[in-house]
Amino acid sequence: MQLTNAQIVGFGSGEGLPEFEIYPPTGDLYRYRSQRHFGLFLVTSEGIILVEPTNSRASSWLREQLDERFPGLPVRYVIYSHAHNDHATGGEAFADTATFIGHENMQKNLTRPAEDAPLLPREKLWDTNQDGLIQETEAVGTALANNFSRADTDGNGGLSRAESWNRQFGGSQVPPDIYYSEHAKITLGGKTVELHYTGRNHTDDMTVILFPEEKVVYTVDFLTPKRLPRTQLHGGFITDWVKSLRQVEELDFDVISPGHELPGTKEDVTEQREYLEELVSAVSAGIDQGRTKEELVETILMEDYNHLVEFDLSRALNVEGTYEMLISQ
Ligand SMILES: [Zn+2]
Repeated sequence: MQLTNAQIVGFGSGEGLPEFEIYPPTGDLYRYRSQRHFGLFLVTSEGIILVEPTNSRASSWLREQLDERFPGLPVRYVIYSHAHNDHATGGEAFADTATFIGHENMQKNLTRPAEDAPLLPREKLWDTNQDGLIQETEAVGTALANNFSRADTDGNGGLSRAESWNRQFGGSQVPPDIYYSEHAKITLGGKTVELHYTGRNHTDDMTVILFPEEKVVYTVDFLTPKRLPRTQLHGGFITDWVKSLRQVEELDFDVISPGHELPGTKEDVTEQREYLEELVSAVSAGIDQGRTKEELVETILMEDYNHLVEFDLSRALNVEGTYEMLISQ
C-alpha cells in the first residue's frame, strides 16, 4: 500500500475534507474513510471481508457503494477491532449477509454495567468526594469532561460507571457471532485474513488484523503511526500496552493502515513503542521518588517526540494518564 495523494488528504482533521471516501486499492484491499475514522475491505471472488462498520451513517453509505461497485459480492464477514462505539456501530447495514467476528472480551465490554457498579480504579482517583459518581467539577481535565451533561443521562449531576461506560461502548453494535481468544483466520474466495490478539492496550478487546498477502496490518487507537497515543482516555492498560506493541513489531507486514491518520511502516511501531517505554519508565521513576503528578507533568517533556502529530495536545495529558494508570493498576 503506497502513500497516495488521496491518502495524504486523509491526514488530520482539517475542514473541507470529504466525509466518506474509498481510496484506490492495494490489490483487492481497499481503505475507506468516515471523517477521521478509517476501515478496510478485501474483495474476493466469494464476497467481501470488511474491517469496521464504523458508524451507521458510514455503513449505510458504504453498503450502497459496495452494492454498486461489486454486484453479487455481499459482505460475508465483518471484523471488529474493538467494541468502542466510534468504530463498531453501524453493523446493521451488513447483518443480512455477514458473520461478525471480534475478540472474546468484546462480549463483557458490550454489556452495560449495573447501575450500582463501582467506578473503574482510575475513575476512583477522580472521585475526590468518594460518592461513587464523577461530578462535573471532578471531571475537569479528565476524559469525562467533554459533553458532560449529555453523558449524565439521568441528570443527577454525576456520572456513574454505567454512564461512563455508555460514552465509550453504548450504541448499536451488532454483537459478534464468533468470538475468538488468541488468533483466528478467515479464508474466503482463496484469500486469507488473520486476527491477532496482542494483549491489553487501549482496551482489553483489541484485534490486530493482518492481510498476509498484501503485507498490510490494520491497527486502531493503540497504534497510530506518527501520532502520540492518547493515554488520557480511561480504560487503558499502560504496561501491557508496551508489550502489545512489541507483539505487533513481530508480525510480518510492510504497511500499517490505521483506523486514524495516515498509513505507516514498521518503523512507526518501533517509535510508538519506544515513546511509551520511555514515558512509562520516566513516570514510574517519578512515582518511586514520591513526585506528584503535577511535578511529573512539568518535568517529563519527551521532546524527542515533538515531531509527532498531537504532541502539544497529548504530551502533558499522557504523563497524567500514565501516572493515573500506574498508581491505580
Ligand atoms: Zn477506541
